[in-house]
Amino acid sequence: MTDPTYQVTAAELEEQQRYIQQIADLPERPATYCVVTYGCQMNAHDSETIAGMLREMGMKEAASREEADFVLFNTCCVRDNAERRALGNVTWLKEVRKRKPGLMIAVCGCMVQEPGMAEKILKQYRFVDLAFGTANLHRFPELMWKALHADTTVVEIDTRNTLAEDLPVQRMRKDAAYINIMFGCDNYCTYCIVPYVRGRERSRRPEDILRETERLRQDGVKEIMLLGQNVNSYGKGLADGITFAQLLRRLDETGIERIRFMTSHPKDLSDELIKVMGSSRHVLPQFHLPVQAGNDEVLRRMNRRYTREAYLNRVRALREAVPGIGLTTDLIVGFPGETEAQFQDTLSLVEEVGFDSAFTFIYSPRVGTAAAKMPDQVSAEVASDRIQRLIALQDECQQRAMRRFLGTEEQVLVEGFSRRSHSAVSGHGMHGLSVTLPGSERDIGQIVRVRVTGLKNNTLVAERAEA
Ligand code: SF4
Repeated sequence: MTDPTYQVTAAELEEQQRYIQQIADLPERPATYCVVTYGCQMNAHDSETIAGMLREMGMKEAASREEADFVLFNTCCVRDNAERRALGNVTWLKEVRKRKPGLMIAVCGCMVQEPGMAEKILKQYRFVDLAFGTANLHRFPELMWKALHADTTVVEIDTRNTLAEDLPVQRMRKDAAYINIMFGCDNYCTYCIVPYVRGRERSRRPEDILRETERLRQDGVKEIMLLGQNVNSYGKGLADGITFAQLLRRLDETGIERIRFMTSHPKDLSDELIKVMGSSRHVLPQFHLPVQAGNDEVLRRMNRRYTREAYLNRVRALREAVPGIGLTTDLIVGFPGETEAQFQDTLSLVEEVGFDSAFTFIYSPRVGTAAAKMPDQVSAEVASDRIQRLIALQDECQQRAMRRFLGTEEQVLVEGFSRRSHSAVSGHGMHGLSVTLPGSERDIGQIVRVRVTGLKNNTLVAERAEA
């Protein structure tokens, strides 16, 4: 993908709106839908957009995928097992269709955008009705129309770096919303497929993001999560040269109650952003800062373009500007050539930082990436042993880190009932940790002030501050 950013025009969107209406008017269209999502928050938000369009086509969400007339798999290709799971489920639906001949099956997302995947679908998954890539989301109504009238699989994969505004969205939550601020990635970390399937970095105009935020605020949304593969490089290529820090500052002034964001690249975490974090009123004191490894040589081979010391320096600066900040990370073990000594450096970094939580992964080779061709691939046994040791250490460090919240106050956005009891509710505190507290249905969607009284696994246990 090397084309410049393509902003979808209002006329194109109007045309898609006409397709939505035509489908809604069809007497024999699917009545119910199910969207199955794999992968990251970007995919979850894309699924909300697709669900928004399906609703406008007159369809209702089915209680399960077995009951739906239209099932769409929004796939991920970052890890091999996510891809295998998605394809396994698509194949399983082929069997379901034997009992339910009208069932429509569609596949979209990163996996479809992978080189060679379109040909694979046309050859091995001919029973799929529709497949489209990440850059074709805004054209879903037209593609759906074609699929409703075609005898063979409709496939469309756009390689342009598109940006589309004002697509309908069916949000999963009333009180919180995702906002995409940028798409794609220019970093080419050697293990990562994302730049090949999500295209070059492109940012939405700040005025569009502010308009969307204001609309959400008026709609009662309390928390927004800004999304992008590398939000820290937001603004690259925009005419007014705005930075992510400046965008945050402007969003902070909108009065939306809580602002979160992900994901950040350590090399692009500027002093300006750290300063904004320290002085804003609504940006939450939490930061997801993927480190991936604690050894300089491994980081170099991953093409991460920072050193262990540079990463630790960013952590220190964040903690100085925002005392008590919630820090989370991503870690990969078993990267090609990783020695035991290099892995030990990852363990020592985890110990030194004391993350509030970490997503830990065994390296998964992806065809087309530089790392997949590197020599000295680490065996599954060694990688599995390392990840177990890493998880055990992280659990220990996490418990230690969480103790700093005991006796402190938190503001919790309550998301629902606690899994264990109907007289308790749970949500996330400002620092990003999960919190349970006594409560009822009335609290769901509200921000509640609590005092932390205990810890239970990875959750803070709290009581109402008023009490
Ligand atoms: S920064 Fe690296 S890991 Fe993150 S999406 Fe870009 S290439 Fe992938």
